[in-house]
Amino acid sequence: LLAADGSTRPTIFAEMSALAASTGAVNLGQGFPDVDGPDAVKRAAIQAIADGHNQYPPGSGIAPLRAAVAGHQQRYYGLEVDPDTEVLITTGATEALAATVLALAGPGDEVLTLEPFYDSYAAVIALAGARHTTAPLSPGADGFRLDQAALRAAFTDRTRLVILNTPHNPTGAVLTRAELELVAQLATAHDAIVVTDEVYEHLVFDSATHVPVATLPGMADRTLTISSAGKTFSFTGWKIGWISGPAPLVEAVRTVKQFLTYVSGAPFQPAIAVALADDDSDTWVRGLAASLSARRDLLCNGLERAGFAVVRPQGTYFVVADGAPLGFDDGAALCRRLPELAGVVGVPVSAFTRAGSPADVALRSTVRFTFVKRESVLREAVDRLGALR
Ligand code: PMP
Ligand code: GLN
Repeated sequence: LLAADGSTRPTIFAEMSALAASTGAVNLGQGFPDVDGPDAVKRAAIQAIADGHNQYPPGSGIAPLRAAVAGHQQRYYGLEVDPDTEVLITTGATEALAATVLALAGPGDEVLTLEPFYDSYAAVIALAGARHTTAPLSPGADGFRLDQAALRAAFTDRTRLVILNTPHNPTGAVLTRAELELVAQLATAHDAIVVTDEVYEHLVFDSATHVPVATLPGMADRTLTISSAGKTFSFTGWKIGWISGPAPLVEAVRTVKQFLTYVSGAPFQPAIAVALADDDSDTWVRGLAASLSARRDLLCNGLERAGFAVVRPQGTYFVVADGAPLGFDDGAALCRRLPELAGVVGVPVSAFTRAGSPADVALRSTVRFTFVKRESVLREAVDRLGALR
C-alpha cells in the first residue's frame, strides 16, 4: 500500500537531515529545536527512572498524565474531557494520527486533508486503504487561507474523516474561526468525524489565536483532538503525544494503538504530567512562543533580503519561501542544490503535496525553512543565503 503511494523511500526529513550532515550545511529542514525543553522537566524524567517508572505503563497512559491532559484542555479552552474514558496517551502525535486513521477509515472511505499536508497523513491514509482527498490552502496577503469553494467541492457522501492541522505545517497558517466554522458545518452536513492535529497549539504569534475546532458549538461530539509534548515543551525525541474526544472514538483508537506500540515512554509520562500541570511551564511555553516569533522575523527578513518571496507564518516553526523571484522555479531542485549554492538545507513544499494537484502546481517553486534554531544559527543561514543573489 505504501509503495503505491510512493512512501517507501526515506522521509523527506531524514533525507534532508542526512544531506545537511554530509555537506556541513546549516539544517533548516527537519523541524526540531536545537535547545531542549525545561530543566525541571528533564529532572522529573530522571527522577522517574530512579523511582522505578521503567516497566510498561497502563495501555491508556498513566492516570496523572491523562488528568494533566484533561486539565490542560479545561484550563486553556474550557473543554471538559473525562481523563478516564476520553483521553489516550500515544507515542507522539504520529501514532495518534496513525491509530485514528486505521481505526476509523478503510476501503471505500475518503479522508479529506488540507493541502499541503504533513507527510504522515498521506502514508497512513494509504495504509488504511482509504482514498485521500484534499482542499488547498492558498497564499495571499493575509497568509495561507482555506479555499472555501474548493473545500465545499472536496466533501462527498464518502467523506469519513477530515484531518485538520492548525497551526499548520508547513504553511504556518492558523485557521480562523470562520474557516473552522465552515469545516464544522460541512463535516456535520456530511456526518464526517473531524481529526484535528494541534501539535503547534501554543506556538502562535502576533494577534493570531489558536481556536480548537472541538470548542465550536456541537463539534466536541464529532472531534478527536491530537497534540504532543514534542512541540509544546521542545522534547521531540520523547514521543509523548495524546488524543482526546468522545469515549467511543477514543476507545476505537486505543484498540488499534494497543497493537501498534501497546505503550511507550514510561519515565517520560510522569515528567510531561508535571510539565502540563505546572504554572512555571506555562510561563516557559509563552517564552518559547515569544522567542520563536522574534526568530521568525529574523529568518523571514533574511529570506526577503536574499531575494525570496515570503508568506509570514502566524504560528509553528516554519516559513514557506518562494524561490521564483530568484529564478528557481522548482523547489525540489533548489533544495538539492542549496547546500552547494549557499550551505543551507530546506525542505521542498512538494514533499507536502500530491504530484500534479492544484496546490502542488501553485507551490512548485517553494521551500519550507524552519526557524526553531538558535539565533546565531539563523544569522549564519541568512548570511549564507545572501550568496543566492
Ligand atoms: N503533526 C504535525 C503537523 C507535525 O509537524 C509533526 C512533527 N513534528 C507531527 C504531527 C508528529 O509529532 P510527534 O513528533 O509528536 O509524533
Ligand atoms: N515534524 C517535523 C517536521 O515537519 C519532522 C518530524 C519527522 O522527521 N518525522 O519537520
